[in-house]
Amino acid sequence: MFGPDFPFPFDDWITHPAGLGTIPAGRHGEEVAVVGAGISGLVAAYELMRLGLKPVVYEASRMGGRLRSQAFEGADGVVAELGGMRFPVSSTSFYHYVDMLGLQTRPFPNPLTEAAGSTVIDLEGITYYARTLEDLPPLFTEVAYAWAQALEEVRYTAIQDAIRARDVRTLKALWNDLVPRWDDRTFYDFVASSKAFSSLSFHHREVFGQVGFGTGGWDSDFPNSMLEIFRVVMTNCDENQRLVAGGAEQIPRGIWRHPAPRLAHWPAGTSLASLHSGAPRAGVARIAREGDDRLAVTDAWGDTRRYATVLVTCQSWLLTTQIECEESLFSHKIWTALDRTRYMQSSKTFVMVDRPFWKDTDPRTGRDVMSMTLTDRLTRGTYLFDNGPGQPGVICLTYSWMSDALKMLPEPVDRRVRLALNALSKIYPDVDIASHIVGDPITVSWEADRHFLGAFKGALPGHYRYNQRMYAHFMQDHMPPEQQGIFIAGDDVSWTPAWAEGAVQTSLNAVWGIMHHLGGRTHPGNPGPGDVFADIGPIELPDLTGRGRASSAIFWAMAGAWSSWGKCLPGTVWRRESPAAVRAFSP
Ligand SMILES: Cc1cc2nc3c(=O)[nH]c(=O)nc-3n(C[C@H](O)[C@H](O)[C@H](O)COP(=O)(O)OP(=O)(O)OC[C@H]3O[C@@H](n4cnc5c(N)ncnc54)[C@H](O)[C@@H]3O)c2cc1C
Repeated sequence: MFGPDFPFPFDDWITHPAGLGTIPAGRHGEEVAVVGAGISGLVAAYELMRLGLKPVVYEASRMGGRLRSQAFEGADGVVAELGGMRFPVSSTSFYHYVDMLGLQTRPFPNPLTEAAGSTVIDLEGITYYARTLEDLPPLFTEVAYAWAQALEEVRYTAIQDAIRARDVRTLKALWNDLVPRWDDRTFYDFVASSKAFSSLSFHHREVFGQVGFGTGGWDSDFPNSMLEIFRVVMTNCDENQRLVAGGAEQIPRGIWRHPAPRLAHWPAGTSLASLHSGAPRAGVARIAREGDDRLAVTDAWGDTRRYATVLVTCQSWLLTTQIECEESLFSHKIWTALDRTRYMQSSKTFVMVDRPFWKDTDPRTGRDVMSMTLTDRLTRGTYLFDNGPGQPGVICLTYSWMSDALKMLPEPVDRRVRLALNALSKIYPDVDIASHIVGDPITVSWEADRHFLGAFKGALPGHYRYNQRMYAHFMQDHMPPEQQGIFIAGDDVSWTPAWAEGAVQTSLNAVWGIMHHLGGRTHPGNPGPGDVFADIGPIELPDLTGRGRASSAIFWAMAGAWSSWGKCLPGTVWRRESPAAVRAFSP
């Protein structure tokens, strides 16, 4: 995922033989607080440890965060992927850590892929069975074609070519042109107003929303900022995805235990686990400034430690709900961005089954008895996981977002299973899925968990400025001293929320920021993100919007007229207001 907002080669930076940089020897062994043991916290902690610092990781809930692989009771290695489960191969920094740990991956059984075998699409009560797109009626090909054409209206191929070639200049020129044009507009607006879809029926749009591209239905994202969708397709997030055999949670847990090679300061064999005597500290309850350059971090049990730098990787709303965070640590502009971050809801429900029975052939039709299923019914997406011979299979009965996830929110796990089975029985009237279930089902609603409050960021129109502020926060030289030393990273800070790669990239930005803050520097042959940020960083959009600019021009013209008029009146003095005051008038 190279750019498009910040086309920095994170993968090259972390694999360069010169390493990420150096910290002054006098600071070696210094403690750095890392709030959250998800992938972004642990990647940052791991790299900071390699630079010779001593990360102190705090975790309020379960290590791994939203890479959570919950084991089914009694079945070793059979898991339900409650968070991230399919990782596009374009996630090159993410895969650097997967490969470092020697984890096995295999193709994810997405709709219409070889890994899925067969796919069933059930819309408006009609069921279609297919192995590839070509097996489906022309309507589906028309939708796929319209989507490809619509993307060409914003120069999709040219942008992808620039990404592939890592042609920063062309990529920036093309992308920076799209940002102001599309920040205010939704995904639905894009689809509805595109030339390609305008000439087709409403039903084409509906089908696109239900079936989408790559991974399945995208209508839950229709209200999101179109920029977010552009990033997903342009960086190939939605293609060529793999799962981690045995569960994605092995990545954060593996990083925690991994004896890091080529460490500054620490003896060979040191790992995050060994620096922590095996376990992270408890959740953080308070962060405050103490003295000029120390940040005091208090955990849930009242223990307070002081640090020059603190990295916060939990979801940003938690800084106002779970953590008493001193207001002066961030500017009000940053607070607005942290609090306006908008989360998407998501629910998943899994069952373990005695065997991958869905591969049985129906003698009547010659088809698989059950398939990866996309539907407009309650379940939306049903995924089938074959764990190999002699192993129980796993069915993700339902993976849904937004309104569909909220329908499940108040229901306990058994009822969720029953609701899902009921919906699936309409599609597969002859298949008795329940008779195959073994063990207890597993479910999640991320929005119901006080340590998350939502699944992942889904930026709304007009949110580019908030994203840009949060993303650029690791560049702190221009900030007043009282706001320096606290860093943010993770899915909320990322340009590609809901994709772990984006979270990893933000944690690498934070590593650069912390290194810089502590007087360190990168190797001249391996510049880091902060070294090139001024040149290729995300563009800033002006405070004044198009209409604002126009009304401001009218205002100044009127001000000029009033001013001349005012001068004519005895005792009247026209005072020209500051641009800031004018900004307040702009809609
Ligand atoms: C349902 C779902 C599906 C997803 N699917 C995919 C996918 O298929 N592919 C993909 O690439 N990505 C996917 N993602 C996104 C991916 O999981 C995230 O981008 C990534 O895991 C985020 O990591 P993080 O470290 O930024 O945040 P988190 O994993 O949320 O880590 C933050 C940690 O902070 C902890 N915390 C909270 N409060 C405190 C406190 N007060 N003190 C200390 N710790 C605290 C939390 O418990 C958590 O462990 C999915 C996410 C979800 C939820």
